[in-house]
Amino acid sequence: YQDKQFSHTKRMLERFHALFGLRKFRSNQQEAVNCALERRFHLFVLMPTGGGKSLCYQLPAVLDHGITFVVSPLRSLILDQTQKLSSLGIPSAALTGDRTSAEVAAIFAKCYAPQPKLKLVYITPEKIGHSDQLNKLFTHLYTNNNLARFVIDEAHCISDWGHDFRPDYVKIGTLRERYPNVPFTLLTATATPRVQRDMLQQMKIERHLSKLFIQSFNRSNLVYKCFPKGKTDGALARTVQLCLSEQFVGLCGIVYCFSRAECERSAQYLAEHGVTAQAYHAGLEDQERADVQTRWANDEYQVICATIAFGMGIDKPNVRFVIHLSMPKSIEGYYQESGRAGRDGEQAYCYLFYSYQDLVKTKRLIMTEQSPNATRDAQKTRMDNLHSVYMYCINDVDCRRTLLLEYFGERYLASQCKKHVETRCDNCCSVAQAKLVDFTELSKQILALVEQLTQNMRTTTINYLIDVLKGSKQRAIIAAGHDQLEQYNIAQDVIRINVERLLSKLIMDGYLHQDISINDTYGTASAYIRLGKNTTFTDPIILSVCAKKENPNV
Ligand code: ADP
Ligand code: ZN
Repeated sequence: YQDKQFSHTKRMLERFHALFGLRKFRSNQQEAVNCALERRFHLFVLMPTGGGKSLCYQLPAVLDHGITFVVSPLRSLILDQTQKLSSLGIPSAALTGDRTSAEVAAIFAKCYAPQPKLKLVYITPEKIGHSDQLNKLFTHLYTNNNLARFVIDEAHCISDWGHDFRPDYVKIGTLRERYPNVPFTLLTATATPRVQRDMLQQMKIERHLSKLFIQSFNRSNLVYKCFPKGKTDGALARTVQLCLSEQFVGLCGIVYCFSRAECERSAQYLAEHGVTAQAYHAGLEDQERADVQTRWANDEYQVICATIAFGMGIDKPNVRFVIHLSMPKSIEGYYQESGRAGRDGEQAYCYLFYSYQDLVKTKRLIMTEQSPNATRDAQKTRMDNLHSVYMYCINDVDCRRTLLLEYFGERYLASQCKKHVETRCDNCCSVAQAKLVDFTELSKQILALVEQLTQNMRTTTINYLIDVLKGSKQRAIIAAGHDQLEQYNIAQDVIRINVERLLSKLIMDGYLHQDISINDTYGTASAYIRLGKNTTFTDPIILSVCAKKENPNV
């Protein structure tokens, strides 16, 4: 038996080196491939984007008898994969909606051959359960022992707990019922524990019949830092300083911008100040975009000023820094965008500039977006996502890694981050000790204050609230007599940023509500605060805080 296993392993390693041209397995790959080859379990592979999920099914598919079917939602990704497989000499095909009937017939002929001529066939999810032709093929292969495996890419789409539910995915469950002996491999880069459980349940995969390969999402070579910015273009000026600094001169990075216009403006500003920079966004012509991509890949620019549309398909390994000039729209988005730094595993830097104004600006965008997707629920989710990012930014205590990884349901101890001096996040660098403070009493006072200030249709804003709570001597406050209120100066011992964090938490938890009002003439947005739906404090309101830090410098 050992001899047999040894020869299996030898054959597997030989294909890995010779066919795929790779030398070393990445974390979890070898284990997943071996488990797949055993064919006793369904596999669930959770790896960050770029982690190397494809190999976990492509290598077994090459070694297995029969055809492996891969369900994948994006035509462009399918084309990428089949092209890559062809270049490696692995016979594969794509049954996507745009195939001519002659092309489809040719693919089917190869599958029906007594010895199937294909190893991997990619299909889009809407085909499942809707194509008799395909069902017949599956059954034919199944009865002839030529149905090697089903692979479900972006498997989180099957769960409606996830952020990307696709109804077409639900039908994948029928494949499990029809072909009970065929092993499944589920792949995803995003799944909270709840989505993970739901995925297995939807697929009717019993826990004891599945093996989970879950890789930490921690990017240990990335240094995360956040910087508050002023009302002016401070962030751009500091970006120039950074690009020309000893640390980054001659190294390349991505500067993420809020809009196409900001991309253009930033690229121009950087260029005027001696940084080779180029704007890159969805508004460029195809030819121009391809050109920028090539020159970027060849290190001809130091900086690409991009909107988040950038990055799809370009995997430049030596990006040394990613700078966000304004706040990203979700933690998940930030993880992906900042994750384009340091793909080569070398140390890289992720700097985020943020302001309260960014929050208001993006809220306005969400509220005013006219699109069929902009349902109330979708807007609410996007608002919540945005709030989570803001909380992340203004948090000057907790480890950034802990905060980011929490989003993926991963527990990460700050002591790990502190241990690695070179890659510590900004909050772990700060010497001050964090402590947990119960703000429930102050929170109750804040609700009382908001109630007072919003009586008789009057309005109030976050900044005004903070000013009253901090005992500001502003003329407006004195004139309104608000310095006479019980809550005036009640937060004198709490630093301003923590009052703001507390207010943000109260908004997130539904104690306060924020209305965005837009001034169409000036294009400005104001955020008004009123009482929210939640009025009873069942759980205490706790924040971790530390002594006031000095002005952080880049
Ligand atoms: P994912 O699907 O997880 O986003 P891919 O499977 O597309 O990631 O792999 C990302 C990149 O990493 C690809 O360019 C792939 O060739 C490369 N890669 C995968 N495994 C290895 C490995 N063991 N060694 C080196 N490169 C690898
Ligand atoms: Zn940290």
